[in-house]
Amino acid sequence: MSADVVTRFAPSPTGYIHVGNLRTALMNYLIARKAGGTFILRIDDTDPERSKEEYVDGIKQDLEWLGLHWDRVERQSGRLERYHAAADELREKGRFYEAFETPVELDLKRKKQLNMGKPPVYDRAALGLSEDEKTALRAERGDGVWRFKLDHARIEWNDGILDEISIDAASVSDPVLIRGDGQILYTLASVVDDTDMGVSHVVRGSDHVTNTATQIQIMQALGKTAPNFAHHSLLTGPQGEALSKRLGTLALRDLRAQGVQPFALLSLMARLGSSEPVELRADMESLIDGFDINQFGAAPTKFDVSDLFPMTGRYLAALPLSAVAQDVAAVGVPDALAAPFWEVIRENIQTLKDLEGWWAMCRDGAEPIVEADDAEFIPQAMALLPDMPFTPDTWGTWTKAVKEATGRKGRGLFRPLRLALTGQEHGPEMAGLMPLLQVVKAKG
Ligand code: GLU
Repeated sequence: MSADVVTRFAPSPTGYIHVGNLRTALMNYLIARKAGGTFILRIDDTDPERSKEEYVDGIKQDLEWLGLHWDRVERQSGRLERYHAAADELREKGRFYEAFETPVELDLKRKKQLNMGKPPVYDRAALGLSEDEKTALRAERGDGVWRFKLDHARIEWNDGILDEISIDAASVSDPVLIRGDGQILYTLASVVDDTDMGVSHVVRGSDHVTNTATQIQIMQALGKTAPNFAHHSLLTGPQGEALSKRLGTLALRDLRAQGVQPFALLSLMARLGSSEPVELRADMESLIDGFDINQFGAAPTKFDVSDLFPMTGRYLAALPLSAVAQDVAAVGVPDALAAPFWEVIRENIQTLKDLEGWWAMCRDGAEPIVEADDAEFIPQAMALLPDMPFTPDTWGTWTKAVKEATGRKGRGLFRPLRLALTGQEHGPEMAGLMPLLQVVKAKG
């Protein structure tokens, strides 16, 4: 690969980015960056009704949040002239024809074909219409749709993920490229953009494989060279269940609101479904270095959203206070305690949202848990607890004194003290936690 590598991420602004299209964005981004090439953000907004500016902004914010910076933005709505010119060229070359079937008629045709055990491919009836018939139909039904006339040969390409693909064009309907109301459809717009913009590599979901077959022929009809294609498998849930309906709940902004960190998402998505192990990376360079599209497999990729939380926790645990100082201050930790608080708490959070609970516990004290066997032990121990403020030595000297006074040791000594002070079975190291405690409710 060279600097001529150009990739694009081409979302339709009809919704926010979710984990499924993040994968597409990331793969295209990494290919471009690895080759020192260009990464284009292309907004596929030829549908004026469904496209919303709010989503364009949202998509940009989400990509910025992840650090997937684009080199330039292209908008299909600003390139309609180019698409119409390509349509004219296809017309001149005899590869474009107007068809007038209504959706109901098409549906009926499909049902008949299926009943006869035939593939539901458009029968090209419109090719047989005379000019007079077309004029009559236009008067009756308005303008027709424009279909690209496929060449009934095999369409073949070497896919970056799926390897050798061969599709019989006769098994595919001639694609509609312009709607009856004149709206240019994605299939044509994408072909024109990819070839005009010198896109060298297109990575997208395997739901686009048939699209690719038709787009290759449209490119050839326009005298252009097709880019390299790679189709990644679609994500499923952890049990292999379809994720398509749930993707709406896996929007990046929702994950961000839940506290997921960009590098947890990026690290998972850059390797999931490939032969490389998923490892937490904390910088883009190492994600770029280890990325290879050819390492991805064709099998559906299992995705478990809950994996993002421990990864977020591991990412955060490695951060210095300076990286989270604002978050620590925001939950009310006084400046003087910020460093020891972060030091002690960082191994015990999954997201920064957990800071609040830990600080509340330090500030207000926890409701003690005292098990029946410890009903006498805890008051004894509390009587020996020195006065505040506690220091890093408090835990050591106190537990030593409690041990001597009660004869308890090991787990029988430490566990009930932790439960009494924190109200939790597990948590931060007690020696570090003690100086942060402002209140000990168990002391009464
Ligand atoms: N706008 C199309 C989509 O979101 C782009 C597909 C492509 O990458 O060509 O599905």
